[in-house]
Amino acid sequence: MNVSHHPEPALLLDYATGTLADPFALIVATHMALCPACRREVAALEAVGGALLEQAPEAGEADVDQGAFERMMSRVEALPPEPAIAPLPAIDTATARIPRPLRDRLPASLDNLPWRRQGPVETVFLPCDLPGHRVRVLRIAAGRGVPRHTHRGTELTLVLQGSFSDETGHYLRGDMECANPELDHRPVADPGEACVCLAVTSAPLRLTGTLGRLIDPFLDI
Ligand SMILES: [Zn+2]
Repeated sequence: MNVSHHPEPALLLDYATGTLADPFALIVATHMALCPACRREVAALEAVGGALLEQAPEAGEADVDQGAFERMMSRVEALPPEPAIAPLPAIDTATARIPRPLRDRLPASLDNLPWRRQGPVETVFLPCDLPGHRVRVLRIAAGRGVPRHTHRGTELTLVLQGSFSDETGHYLRGDMECANPELDHRPVADPGEACVCLAVTSAPLRLTGTLGRLIDPFLDI
C-alpha cells in the first residue's frame, strides 16, 4: 500500500503530545493504522518528548545532553513493525478492513449503518463532542462525485475503501486530504468500487456549484 498524502506535521505533533482533540485524534489514529511512515514519525516524537522530560534539567543544572536526540532516533528506527490489524470475527470483509480506531466507533457493520442518502453520496454521522465539529463516514458511489463545495473551516478526509480524485490529486486507501477555506473542489470516486471515507469538519461545508448555491441554505451539511 502506498500512502502518499499525510496529515500536516502539526497534527502529528499534537497527536504525539496527547493534545489533539478527539475527532482529529480519531482520524489521525485511523490514518496511522494504514500508514507506517506516520506511525514511525509519531513514535519518534513520543520518544523525543519522553527523553526531553527525563533529561529536563532542574533550574541551574547543565543543558540537555546533545546526544540524547540521536540516541532516541536510533532506538526508534529499531522499533519492530506494528502487528497486522486482526479482523474481528463475524463481520463482513469491508467492515473488517476499516482500521480499529474507527471500527470501534461504528455502531454496526458498514452495510448496516443508518446511511442517509443524498444522490450518489451516503452519509452516516458519528457522535462528536467538540462543538461545531462533525464526524461522518461517506460512501460515494463508484464513478460519481460529491457536489462541488468549499469549506468554512478545516475538512480532513481519509480514504478507507476505493479512491477518489479532485483538483488537488488522487487519493487512495490511507491517504488523507486536508482542505481549508481556500479550496473549492469536487471529489469524484474512481470507477470500480464505492469510495468510503472518514471526514472531520470544523464548520459546515458550503456548496458552490450552480445548483449547490441555490440549495446550500436548505441543506444540513
Ligand atoms: Zn501518513
